Amino acid sequence: MIINQKKCVACGNCIPVCPMGAIYVDTGKNRAQINDDACVECGTCYRAMSTENLNPVLVRMVRKAARWFRFRFEPEPDVCPTGSFEMNDLEMPRLIRQIFSDPVVEHTSTGIKGRGTEEVKTNDVNLRVDTGEVGYTIEFGRPGVGVRFRDIQLMTRTLAKNGIKFEKKNPITLLMTDESRGDLPEDILNEKILSAIVEIRTTLEEVEKVLKLVHKVNLQIDTVIAIGISTRCDTNGEDNLLAPLLENLGYPFSRAKTNMGLGRITNKIEVKDNMKSTL
Ligand code: SF4
Ligand code: SF4
Repeated sequence: MIINQKKCVACGNCIPVCPMGAIYVDTGKNRAQINDDACVECGTCYRAMSTENLNPVLVRMVRKAARWFRFRFEPEPDVCPTGSFEMNDLEMPRLIRQIFSDPVVEHTSTGIKGRGTEEVKTNDVNLRVDTGEVGYTIEFGRPGVGVRFRDIQLMTRTLAKNGIKFEKKNPITLLMTDESRGDLPEDILNEKILSAIVEIRTTLEEVEKVLKLVHKVNLQIDTVIAIGISTRCDTNGEDNLLAPLLENLGYPFSRAKTNMGLGRITNKIEVKDNMKSTL
């Protein structure tokens, strides 16, 4: 993302818009700047603000004159008065920031926007988590913290080392250079993104092991992690296996999302093959 320095009038309206706190006003230059290392190329500053396209020279003069008379000329708080934000053409490895952070950009690997995965929201048709299994979403960086791929790799390597398999249709898995080791490409490790989700699946017996591993890695990385756990209910819509297990481990259990199973499987063969390849 770029702030056109010829247009910016340093009103500071864009500062609270950035989820990464990457925008600041340089009082020496009297212009807003973006900290490129902190910016995740999410596009929020570009899209979330209205623009008025006022003449920047005129706005600066009015603001200066207003200060002489001890009043202020400020644009409405949700407006960039001079339309100063410009999206630049990005190349790898920086482009990976936009792919994982900008909700309108599609992941070409999965065809899904945002974090690039449906998680288990469509479990009734994709059968990611079958009876007796447990699915996990390990989410990094939300809200408003962000994450570097180096920290994600620490998690994926730890899981891989302990024999945990990754969900195939997930953009982090599809990025891996060696899935058996949980390795990510070297050139993206320092790139920062808004958030990402690692997905795995295990048997019920492995829940305690996974939670301990995630907790251990969580203490070593510089971001926040939220873990979601899912399983299939029995024919009465109850879960009498995972919930008590989690409660025994000290995690208060509450149902967050329930997939009603109203979807219709139209790709039985493909689903069956996918299940075989991921087991
Ligand atoms: S809102 Fe626009 S004009 Fe105001 S500081 Fe930000 S980029 Fe500059
Ligand atoms: S693109 Fe996103 S992270 Fe970068 S400056 Fe704009 S709002 Fe902040």
